[in-house]
Amino acid sequence: MASNDCDTLIIGQGLAGSALAWQLAAAGQRVCVIDDGHTTSSSVVAAGLINPLAGLRFTRRPEVGTWLDAADRWYAELAHTFGRIFFHALPMLRLFRSVEQRRFHERRLADPASRELLGAAFDADHCPEPVSAPHGGFIQRRTGYVDMPLLLGELRTWLIQHQQLVESALNPAQVELGEHAVSAAGVRAQRLVFCDGARLRANPWFNALPLVPEKGEILNLVSDDWQPHHIINGAYWLVPLESGEMRFGATHRHKQIDDRITAAGRTELVDAVRALRPASPPARVVRQQAGIRPGTVDRYPLIGQHAVHPRLWVFNGFGARGALVIPWYAQCLADHLQHGTALPAEADIRRFT
Ligand SMILES: Cc1cc2nc3c(=O)[nH]c(=O)nc-3n(C[C@H](O)[C@H](O)[C@H](O)COP(=O)(O)OP(=O)(O)OC[C@H]3O[C@@H](n4cnc5c(N)ncnc54)[C@H](O)[C@@H]3O)c2cc1C
Repeated sequence: MASNDCDTLIIGQGLAGSALAWQLAAAGQRVCVIDDGHTTSSSVVAAGLINPLAGLRFTRRPEVGTWLDAADRWYAELAHTFGRIFFHALPMLRLFRSVEQRRFHERRLADPASRELLGAAFDADHCPEPVSAPHGGFIQRRTGYVDMPLLLGELRTWLIQHQQLVESALNPAQVELGEHAVSAAGVRAQRLVFCDGARLRANPWFNALPLVPEKGEILNLVSDDWQPHHIINGAYWLVPLESGEMRFGATHRHKQIDDRITAAGRTELVDAVRALRPASPPARVVRQQAGIRPGTVDRYPLIGQHAVHPRLWVFNGFGARGALVIPWYAQCLADHLQHGTALPAEADIRRFT
C-alpha cells in the first residue's frame, strides 16, 4: 500500500467521522480523514447532552439501552486512552411544562424499562434547584453531557499524530471513482464515507436522502449567585459546566437554515433563562453560537452504501442526539465494513429506497 493509500477515507471530523475513524482503526484498518477545520461542524456547537428519554412524552425508544451502553463504553475507553474526562454524568432535573406532561410521567413509571431512568415526581414547592417549576418535575437518571470541544480536539490531535488527517475542504464533485479504488485530495482508498453533517444537502451522491436540517442557537452564561447541581430541562435546557459556565439552549428553526448567530436567537434564549429565575439577577451572556442539526424524517440516522457506486458510503443524520447514538452506530458500521455484519435496519438508508 502506498503511503497515501488507506482502507477507508472519511469526509468530516465531527463526532460521527471521529467515532468511525476510531472504531475502524481499532479494527486494524488504515484510515484517513479529510476535514476543513470544523467550518460547519454542529458537533463543536452542541451541548453534548445525553438524554435517553427525549420529548414531551418522555418516550423511550427501544434501542435506548443499546445506545447508552455503547456510549458509556466508548467515552470510558477514550478517557482511559487519553487520561481526560469526556463524559460528565449529571442527574437531569425535568420540569413539567403542563399538567398533562405530569400524566405522561405517571404512565412511564408503569413501564419497567423506563422506570429505572425516572425518579418520583415533586411539586412546585419542592424543586431541588432555585428555579420556577409551576407544574413540578422529576429527576431523570443516566443523563449527562459530553465535552465535545475537548473530545474533538483530542481525536484531531490523535489523527494528526498518526498522519491520518488532511486539513482541507473537499468538493465532493472532485471525488474520483475508479474500478479498484476511490480517490480524493490525493488519497486513494477502498471506500469513502461521507460524515459531512448538514452539508449532505450539497453532496451530489447522497443529497436525495431525506435530511431535515434544523438550525439551533446556544448561549454560554455566567451567574454570580448560582451554580446548579443538575442539568435542567424544561422548555429549554441548561447544562452546568465544570468551568463554572453554563450552556443554555437551544433554539429550533426549520427555516432560514444557516449557522449564523442572530439577535432574535439571543433574545429568545435570554428571555427564557430569565423566566427560569425571574426574581434573581440575570446571568451574563459570554458566548453565542449557532449550528445545524443534521436531522431526518424518522429521527433515525442515515447509514449505508450508495446504490450505484458501491465504494461510496454515508454515515450521517444524527439529528439532536449524536452524543448518545453515534458511538453505537459507529461500532455497527465498522463491524459491517470489517466483518459484513448486518447494519441496524432502523438506520440503514435502504429503508428509503
Ligand atoms: C445548537 C445545537 C445544540 C445541540 N445540542 C446537542 C446535544 O446537547 N446533544 C446531542 O447529542 N446533540 C446535540 N446537537 C446535535 C449534534 O451536534 C449532532 O448530532 C452531531 O454533532 C452531528 O455530528 P456529525 O459529525 O454528523 O456532523 P458535524 O459535527 O457537522 O461534522 C461534520 C464535519 O465535516 C466537515 N465537512 C463537511 N463537509 C466537508 C467537506 N466537503 N470537506 C471537508 N470537511 C467537511 C465539517 O466542517 C464538520 O467538521 C446540537 C446541535 C446544535 C446545532
